[in-house]
Amino acid sequence: PSITRGIAKEASKVSWEDIGGLKDLKKKLQQAVEWPIKHADAFARLRISPVRGILLHGPPGCSKTTLAKATAHAAQAAFFTLSVAELYSKYVGEGEALLRRIFLKARHSAPSIIFFDEIDGIAPSRGSHGGSSGGNSSVGERLLSTLLTEMDGLELANGILVLAATNRPMQSIPLSGVQAASIWYSSFSPSPYYLFQIKRYSVIRPAAGFRGRREILRVHTRRMELAKDVDLEQIAEGAELFTGADLEGLCREAGMLALREDPSAGSVSGRHFWAARACLRPSLTQSQID
Ligand code: ATP
Repeated sequence: PSITRGIAKEASKVSWEDIGGLKDLKKKLQQAVEWPIKHADAFARLRISPVRGILLHGPPGCSKTTLAKATAHAAQAAFFTLSVAELYSKYVGEGEALLRRIFLKARHSAPSIIFFDEIDGIAPSRGSHGGSSGGNSSVGERLLSTLLTEMDGLELANGILVLAATNRPMQSIPLSGVQAASIWYSSFSPSPYYLFQIKRYSVIRPAAGFRGRREILRVHTRRMELAKDVDLEQIAEGAELFTGADLEGLCREAGMLALREDPSAGSVSGRHFWAARACLRPSLTQSQID
């Protein structure tokens, strides 16, 4: 990846097949990104205003980053990523300049996807960090207003989509931030992935159910040599509250156990998975998925 002053442009290699489950979500992301690029003329003719941003909401390890990368890969879009913490680590005014630069670069490389991790960090309630405060408004307010201005100037027909991720439960995102970013929340639609439709924004919270877990296990065992007694369905059933990252860890641990037991082992057996399961704790709690 080439890195220009804090802006990382990556060629994303993650594909949809690397993500287990989340079928509807994948389709929605695909449509949000690919259609406006592929059918720009139709969007203009019918005056459809495309989605400009999608907020992926969910606990750590639930594939938010992976989804963003896969979306870029599928659309053959350039992938720009920026951590919000980085915006705060700059001198006064530099964070805003960095934000503007990333949008500019994305425009030049369109189709592109800009991915902001921990977007909830951009909130007016967050005070200025380090250095002099520079004016009346807080760093958070200025960053947010720059972000919103840049988003206003976006036309997805030009091939730019903003994806953002947050780990924080909705309720804990400060109201002031929500109001200022009035584009964010409006109504709730009880889809399997907790889809919020927001003006031109969508908020999605990926959570893996039994089938999702089984598919994630499939993804992470597809290159493993598995013994016949490995029953991914049963393992998925026994892995409630496991995130995608947890399941990936479970598969790795099962492999390590098989090796530890017999360095010349030809395959990983069911008992290795169960032993791995027994020593791992899920990252999710029930209240996070209710
Ligand atoms: P964080 O909030 O910590 O950044 P995240 O939600 O962005 O987490 P990812 O970084 O996308 O999570 O996922 C971590 C790892 O877990 C990935 O490298 C991936 O291998 C695995 N993983 C997560 N979800 C899935 C999934 N649905 N299918 C396959 N693998 C997954």
